[in-house]
This record gives sequence, C-alpha cells and structure tokens, in this order.
Amino acid sequence: MARRIAASLRVAAMSERLAQVAPMTAAAGPAVVETLVERTQPDREAGSVSEQQQDITGLRQSLDEVDSGIVRLIARRSGIIAAIAEVKEQGSALIQDADRERRVLAGVEAVATDLGVSASLVRRIFRELISDSVAQQARMLNEEAGGRVRVAFQGAAHAYSEAAAQKYIAGRGLGGDLTGYRTFRAAVGALLAGDVDLAVLPIENTTAGSINEVYALLREHELSIVGEETWKVNHCLAAVADVPLSSLSRVLSHPQGLEQCAQFLQSLPQAVPTTYFDTAGAMRAVAAAGDPTVAAIGSPEAAAAHGLVVLRHNIADAEDNYTRFVVLAAAAAAVDVRIPCKTSLILATRHEEGALLRCLEVLSGSGHSMTKLESRPRPGRPWEYLFFLDFEGNAADPRTAAALDELRSAALYIKVLGSYPAKALRHRARPGELPDRQPGESPVDALEAVAAVEVPAGRRSRQYKLVDRAARQADTIVRVGDLLVGGDGFVVMAGPCSVESAEQITATARFVRDHGAHVLRGGVFKPRTSPYAFQGRGWEGLDLLVAAGRETGLPVVTEVMAVDQVQRMAKVADILQVGARNMQNFDLLREVGKVDRPVLLKRGLSSTIEEWLAAAEYVVAQGNQQVILCERGIRTFESATRNTLDLSAVVVVRERSHLPVIVDPSHGTGLRRYVAPMAWAARAAGAHGLLIEVHPSPEEALSDAEQSLSFEEFAVLMRRLATIPGSGDAA
Ligand code: PEP
Ligand code: MN
Repeated sequence: MARRIAASLRVAAMSERLAQVAPMTAAAGPAVVETLVERTQPDREAGSVSEQQQDITGLRQSLDEVDSGIVRLIARRSGIIAAIAEVKEQGSALIQDADRERRVLAGVEAVATDLGVSASLVRRIFRELISDSVAQQARMLNEEAGGRVRVAFQGAAHAYSEAAAQKYIAGRGLGGDLTGYRTFRAAVGALLAGDVDLAVLPIENTTAGSINEVYALLREHELSIVGEETWKVNHCLAAVADVPLSSLSRVLSHPQGLEQCAQFLQSLPQAVPTTYFDTAGAMRAVAAAGDPTVAAIGSPEAAAAHGLVVLRHNIADAEDNYTRFVVLAAAAAAVDVRIPCKTSLILATRHEEGALLRCLEVLSGSGHSMTKLESRPRPGRPWEYLFFLDFEGNAADPRTAAALDELRSAALYIKVLGSYPAKALRHRARPGELPDRQPGESPVDALEAVAAVEVPAGRRSRQYKLVDRAARQADTIVRVGDLLVGGDGFVVMAGPCSVESAEQITATARFVRDHGAHVLRGGVFKPRTSPYAFQGRGWEGLDLLVAAGRETGLPVVTEVMAVDQVQRMAKVADILQVGARNMQNFDLLREVGKVDRPVLLKRGLSSTIEEWLAAAEYVVAQGNQQVILCERGIRTFESATRNTLDLSAVVVVRERSHLPVIVDPSHGTGLRRYVAPMAWAARAAGAHGLLIEVHPSPEEALSDAEQSLSFEEFAVLMRRLATIPGSGDAA
C-alpha cells in the first residue's frame, strides 16, 4: 500500500513535470523547452532505453548530449544575468538580494522534489550558480577588464589550493598561470617579489579551524586581502592497488588532511599517520613509491591524476567540510560599494577593562555585523593577544570608513587587511512561515491571537531560574540549520511516528515538505508501552531519516532514549527529542544539556507545568540553551481521547518562560479526526509550531496508526492553518 501511494505520487509528479518546467524556461526561448523535453524522455523510460540501446557507448553519447545541454542552459542563464547587471549598473541597488535568492532556491528545490531529484544536490548546484552570478555582476560593476593573472598557491598540482585558486580566477572572468609553492611562506615571498599578482592561501577550515601560519604571514607582511574563496573539501583514501584497509601501514597527507580525518584514522590503528607537505604531493609520493601498504588522503581528482585506486570516499569527520581561502595582493583594490563586502583587520586592545567590548561596540553601534573574531597570541608578549576580526562592510563606504576611524581611537593597534567581495557568509536563518492563503479558504479573521502576554513582574519559581521569564524578557529563538523556532515564526514538524522503510520516509518527507512543513520527524528508538510492540529501526532507521532529510532539505528531529545514544545521535540529527516518558530522566536531560544541539522536550504524561520547566532547567543548566518545549497531552480521567491536550499550557508557558513552545495534537488527542482542529486551536493560542504525525498509509503504520494523518489530511490541515492568525500576526 505504502509503495502504491508512493508510486502514484511519482506519476502525479511526472505529469506535472513539464507543466512546471515549461513556464520556468519559457523566457529562455522555445529551443530550451524542446531540449528539456527531449532530454527528460529517456530517463522517464529508463527500462526501454536500455533495452533498445544495449550498447553502453550509445548511452554515454546521450549523457554527453545532456551534459552539453546543461552547459548551454548555464550559458543562457549567464546571458540573462549580464542583462540584469546592466540594468543594475544604472541604479544604486545592491547586487545581492537575500530574499530573491531564497525564493530561487525554494523554487528549484520544489521542482527537484517533483522530479524525484535530490533537492540537496540541486540546492548545492544552485548555490554555486547564484554565487557565480553575483561574482559576474560584481565584475561588471567593478569594470574588471579580464586578462591573465599570475597566481601562487601552496602545494603540488591538483592540491585543493589550486582548485580554489582556479575557482576564484574563473569567477572573476580571468585567465591564470598558477604556480604551486612548497610552503605558505614561499607563496607569499613570490607575491612580495612581484613574481606573481595574487596568492591564494587557506585561512580556515570548518572542521579543523584556523591555519596559524597564514595568520602569522598576514601579521608580518604588508599584504592586502582582495578576495576570498571557499572550497568543499572531499577527502578520499587512495593507494596504488585495491588493498584491504587493514593491510595499510602508513597514511600520508598534509597535517590538515590528517586532522580533518582524525576519527577515520583512529579506525585504522595499524596505519601510522605521516605528515606530508600537501595532499596532492602525498598522492604523488604514494604513486612513486609503488608500495601497496602506503595510502594518501587527498582529493579524488589528485588520486585520479596519479593513477591511484580510491579505497574509501568521503572520509572526513564532518560531512560539510569547507576551507576558506584568502586572496592576497601586494596592494589594496577599492570595491564598488554596491557589492556586498567583508573587511578584515588585526586589532590589539588597550590595557583597560572592557577594551575589547568597546571596540566591538563601535562596530555594532554603526550597524556592522561581525562574521569572525579570532584571538591569537601576540608574539614576544606572553599572555597578550591580537584579535583577527572580519565584519560585513566596505572601507570605500563612508559609513564603514567612519567606523574604522572610531575603531582606531578605541584600539591600541589596528591593521586593516582589506575590503573584498564576500563569499563565505553564513546563510541567513528565516522564521518558519506558512504557505500563502488559498483563495476560497475562509480566513478566521475574527479570531484574535492571544500571545506575547504581559509578564507579571517579579514572579520567580524556586524550581528553576534560567528558563524563567524573569531571567530573560525576550523570547528565546532556537536556530535549527537555517530555520528559526520561536519568536514570530510558526514551525511545522511533520512525519511518521516511526521510520519504517526508505520508501515510507522519503515519500513522507517529500510530501510534507511540498505542503509547507519545515522539519521532518521520525522515531527510530521507540518508547513503547509493550515490549512486544514494534521498537523502532534504531541506528539504521536514523540513517534513513537523515538521508530523507538531506534529500528534501529538511532538518530532522528524532527521539533519543538513552544517555549513551546522545553523542552519536547529535552528530547527525538536527533536533534531539526527549519523549514524554523521559521528561524526568535527569541523567538524559543532563546529557542532552552537554551537546550543542537543539532539544525538543516533551511534557511528561502526568507532569505539571512547573515540573516540565524544571526539567528544561536541567538541560539549560548544563549549558545548552536551545530547548523547545512541546505540549503533547496529559493523563486525566477523560477517556474519550488518548490524552487531554492541555492548550492552556501554551499561554502559561509563554508567560512563565522565554523558551519556545510547540504543540503535538497527534499524541495529544490520539485520533486523527481530532488532530486538525486542535492544531488550529494551538496556533490561535499562540504556540510557536506543531509536531504532527503523517504516514503514507496511516492504517498500516507500525506505531500510532489511529492518530497518524494521511497525506491528504495533512494537506487540508496545512491549507486551513494558513488562514488562522497566530501570535506572529498580532499587531
Ligand atoms: C513520539 O513523538 O513519537 C512520542 C513517542 O511522543 P511522546 O513522548 O509524546 O509520547
Ligand atoms: Mn507516536
């Protein structure tokens, strides 16, 4: 049944496919539409294609045609971008529009989901395309002429630094002659000697942190940062032959490569990690030695270039492993003020109390947001520090220039390293929003939202202090990836009670995402009343949930039942749920309080609001402030519903605590026909969101079948939800 529903959804998505693609590409001309129609045909009937064309060369030919079609479309896109840049050149508009970018990403992800293509793949590709468009427009605004530049990088051919340098110059529409130097110092030496125009050096890695030596070089020499670039590092392990990992005696790589794969290397205790001057050089050395017991860590491209066999892909400890590079020149270059820029500087503070704070206040007071602050030892001055600081701003802008002047008088020493077009910016988070109201749905305009209540002054609980409203007037807003939970937004977390199969979780993820859900839920460790009931699919289920979340671009929430599951689960789950039955498992609360992950804390079956808030205090007291409360119904004498959903808890909690609170009407009522009305009521009562159980075929669900919504029921719930004013709409 589940499979049939998933299959019919797919067919429906297919038939919408061309309708969706056509309007998108219509502006680009009928030829493009035709190309797409042609190209999409063969994979739709993959079976028949392979029957007709047994010959793999034929298939590869088709693939080559698709690939050049993609490139032609990119060329057209770039033509349109150029036209837009010309229009912008006349005005004063900024060339980067975060809202528009977000809409573009959401639009292409929706198309991807319909076509059964990974939304996260499409998102990655489009982020690159958008960032390239911004660079293209910036280039035009700055009237850069093109031409060739000589660029220094550290390492051998095929090093990550070379790839990043290539990406940077290609983004500027330049050609380049790239030269690898053995050390960072040698690359900088070449720049200072005038042998090259630019040096591209790594400054920090999202897994291993800052690269000290490059900071030291920036401090010591008169260099200007004129640009930055990011590179997604994809480490693999390669050797001369396809040998078992257990036979390796040594692994060569740059110290950064070894550090970024530390956990993987621990799983190979017999292989001695050996530092090498760079990753590509390590690959070359392994190839030259010809010893099958020696392997190297580096890029798959470097492995291929040296004819090595990849033994294992993606071995870095963190999946999202990026390196940020700075582009250095001998002299600063002014950048057009319409281009979003960062400014980097080195700062030493005065020997006064609160000196750093005063410097930071200069920036925040003038509306400059800081993107990085790093403290480094001041050479020759034990226990004194220099600060390396990046903020969003352009020294060519009078407002930023004034702030820099003010900073000069507040600090002891300042060295401005440069203002340059920003590439590595954290994606802006957005509050959860509901889909637009559908025409014909009657808005419940008369319903007044009740929230943002006046807080009675001075009321303090003896059970808790940090989560008390008296400790913090402003609402706590919890950031989950790029999503904000709390405040004025409204967040819908939806998905099955239990993850059952890849098909079930993937189909549900796609459906709920397309109908406005922000987070995917799915239990993998299930707290069941009977030990004979389905207990969940455990870690294997977690892999399925995470894969479905990645594919649809939704963060995931899942229940953690035991102390020893916390660390492992925190590595991949975006929100850790503590279930009703564990609300007073104090060891578990303390453990989730130690990790840097948002926690969804459900109210206990028979717990008072005070006990619930005291449980939240256990988490917060350990240092983790990111708690989202969840009302899910309590035990009363009433037996018409599974639990009694206590909606008054929402208003009480919002008064007594600053933590966000959401409502779970699925467990709160236990019956699917009651879920939607209570969901609407929760929104009207001022809840910050909902947790809803949805299943492709609810009656066949392995847990909580009676309360799980079908896809259609979920769609109706969401449509109506958008018509109900929530606390964020209150004037
Ligand atoms: C659940 O969310 O699947 C769950 C078990 O919830 P609760 O802890 O509220 O019963
Ligand atoms: Mn459940």
